[in-house]
Amino acid sequence: MSEFKAPQLDVSSILHGGIHHPTLREWQANGRTLTKSMFIYPIFISDDPDAEEVISSLPGQKRWGLNKLEGFLAPLVKKGLKSVILFGVPMKMEKDARGSAADDPSTPVIQALHLLSKAFPQLMLTVDVCLCEYTSHGHCGILSSLPNPGHSNQPTIEMEPSAQRIAEVAVAYAKAGAHCVAPSDMMDGRIRAIKLGLMHAGLANRCALMSYSAKFASGLYGPFRDAAGSAPSFGNRKCYQLPPQGRSIARRAIQRDANEGADFIMVKPALPYLDIISDAARLAPDLPTACYQVSGEYAMVVAGAEKGIYDLKEMAFETTESMVRAGASIILSYFTPQFLDWLDEEK
Ligand SMILES: [Zn+2]
Repeated sequence: MSEFKAPQLDVSSILHGGIHHPTLREWQANGRTLTKSMFIYPIFISDDPDAEEVISSLPGQKRWGLNKLEGFLAPLVKKGLKSVILFGVPMKMEKDARGSAADDPSTPVIQALHLLSKAFPQLMLTVDVCLCEYTSHGHCGILSSLPNPGHSNQPTIEMEPSAQRIAEVAVAYAKAGAHCVAPSDMMDGRIRAIKLGLMHAGLANRCALMSYSAKFASGLYGPFRDAAGSAPSFGNRKCYQLPPQGRSIARRAIQRDANEGADFIMVKPALPYLDIISDAARLAPDLPTACYQVSGEYAMVVAGAEKGIYDLKEMAFETTESMVRAGASIILSYFTPQFLDWLDEEK
């Protein structure tokens, strides 16, 4: 008879017993696990009505014309797509200093709102609100004509006119049927201006406000700029997007936007900023936290899988689950169509 050996490990060392079965592993999830309704699918809408253009730097994604939109989205809605965010891509419209094309009745997102509300009445429609795709200078606000000594080649933003103009555009989208407006411009004061604009228009109870509160000046936006044709014509956006090291100013932006009337707080990009997602969830605990797995993050995950470094589905789950673990309950992701399939399968 073999002698019983006293274990060398301490009882508190044993963790494997709690994770050996798939259900046990699910029980270990802090908070929520991924569901279809957490995903918002970003859609690029061209002003060429028949467009179905491949975006080479953003694998699997296209710019869609109005005539193609219903056919593209119908199978996804059938699979359980709950929500999209629309980005207008004016390829032919004239651009001016105030971004007049943003809320022109013929602008692609307004046309798409009319079309999608009829075709898919249950689909939740969010519209990105920004001027940079529509301005001749490619910046997200109204520029000052004053010189900018000490910051040559950088724009000076006129703060209040920019917030007012952004609010006008947001109200136009709400009037056209947007269930949610999401300003990505990062202009100071625009959340309050939009909320007041919605209230004056009698739409504040019919249109939610999701603030891109903590949007960092990231190197991960390249494929999006290709997709939306929104690179600035001079300077960069560092005077209004947050510095990547700036945790404290991100915390201030989150608290400011919560106080200015945001319904949802967004952090962008997601994966390199999980600490900020966690900050948002704690600083504004009564506002659900969203995060944007941006174009470059998505393209990185896809590229690594193509190189055989990991399995695409496994890494798509791992990256998005890390966002949920950090505190996000809403995820803007180009993987949304795949997740509609994956979430029906056994992992
Ligand atoms: Zn912009």
